Amino acid sequence: MTAIAPSPLSRHVDSYYAASANALRDFPALEGEVDADVCVIGGGYTGLSSALHLAERGYKVVLLEAERVGWGASGRNGGHVGTGQRLDQHSLEAKVGREKARMMWDLSLEAVQTVKDLIEKHQIQCDLKPGILHTAHKASLRDEYLQEAEFLQKNYDYDAIRFVDKDEVRQLVGSDNYHCGTLDSFSCHLHPLNFALGLGRACADAGVRIFENSRVVNYSDGSNPIVTTARGRVKAKFVVLGCNGYLGKLEPRMAGKIMPINNFVLATEPLSDELCRELIRDDTAVADSLFVINYWKLSGDNRLLFGGGENYTSRFPRDMKSFVRKYMLRVYPQLQNTRIDYAWGGTLAITLNRMPHFGRLSDNVFYAQGYSGHGVPTATMAGKLLAEAVAGTAERFDVMADYPTHTFPGGTLLRWPGLVAGMLYYSLRDKL
Ligand SMILES: Cc1cc2nc3c(=O)[nH]c(=O)nc-3n(C[C@H](O)[C@H](O)[C@H](O)COP(=O)(O)OP(=O)(O)OC[C@H]3O[C@@H](n4cnc5c(N)ncnc54)[C@H](O)[C@@H]3O)c2cc1C
Repeated sequence: MTAIAPSPLSRHVDSYYAASANALRDFPALEGEVDADVCVIGGGYTGLSSALHLAERGYKVVLLEAERVGWGASGRNGGHVGTGQRLDQHSLEAKVGREKARMMWDLSLEAVQTVKDLIEKHQIQCDLKPGILHTAHKASLRDEYLQEAEFLQKNYDYDAIRFVDKDEVRQLVGSDNYHCGTLDSFSCHLHPLNFALGLGRACADAGVRIFENSRVVNYSDGSNPIVTTARGRVKAKFVVLGCNGYLGKLEPRMAGKIMPINNFVLATEPLSDELCRELIRDDTAVADSLFVINYWKLSGDNRLLFGGGENYTSRFPRDMKSFVRKYMLRVYPQLQNTRIDYAWGGTLAITLNRMPHFGRLSDNVFYAQGYSGHGVPTATMAGKLLAEAVAGTAERFDVMADYPTHTFPGGTLLRWPGLVAGMLYYSLRDKL
């Protein structure tokens, strides 16, 4: 028999989040064979939330994570927890009709509430704060922003959103770039890695057996799937896939529906209280309307966390600090002399129509992916819906699964050139 060398223990990327993580708990790698009702693959919000909700329903759950809990996008993102789906309600109503669009809206509110409830219930320390401000980078977007706020107030009884005019936007974010905005006070923002780690702790407390450094190399279908890693296997009745942008070649039947793209974030040095209030007066998160979106917020220790720029290759830019800093300086030239302490990247999955892709590959293999930049609430909610589907109550899961998801032209082999050309075209429009 050939001996398999022990794999080196994986580490989180060098980010502000890793540097300010609550105590990291180590979970062992899978060795040998274990039994489970459900084997969950992936230790981000999708996998963790599925595992937790399943364990709370009494299922015996094993979670396999290739690296560390929260190692993927869930431990690296901007931390914005926004309401709504990735498409606005107007577009959803046009596509699926009023009733389904309403269900999707309600699910989106439940998603944000679920994040808040999990934080409260499991006492997760993750700098949770209220409010997301969306800002318009063009004056011509004014009517759209105004109508969007009025539409949600009138047709969805949603009073937590309001239109913000140019003068007020200038006061809320100390930048001259924006012409108006909408402020959503039910949305919130948080420290994403600490949220993921807290979910991991809650899973372990609920009896989920978590294995890190345990990459799944393949799994068999059928009534008793066997999920295989380098050193072990799990015999399960159900499989849940939550690998998102890191799916790789594990499941070709899902891979062509998503495109992995890289997005980048920096953290400045800690700023004075006065400068923090100048940049974001009310400590909300902020996101603008550019195609390659800029998004930012303050950390628990007064740093500006600024996300900007993306690429579509298998590599991150060599100098990520300079790469993101240029986007930050376009919004806040007053930070020219501010030190950048950290910069990092992560991979997320987008779909062609930007709506998430939920589904089943067989009666006992379920998945959710492709949250297109809206995964903090949506992946957390996906976990809850995946648990419902495994338990045999798939009505709400199917509201999402029924939404048509298209395969990228060219499938996994040729999807890159078309997407890259399209993305570059739109990012060029941003610059113009
Ligand atoms: C830089 C950045 C900023 C973002 N900002 C925001 C934001 O502000 N708000 C928002 O809502 N969304 C944001 N997103 C998107 C959001 O982070 C993701 O949609 C969400 O975290 C997806 O969660 P997930 O669990 O599905 O995937 P991930 O968190 O990526 O987890 C997938 C996990 O699966 C594991 N895995 C993969 N293959 C295998 C295998 N074969 N065996 C075992 N494990 C495997 C990976 O190691 C990984 O840990 C951002 C994403 C990035 C990258």
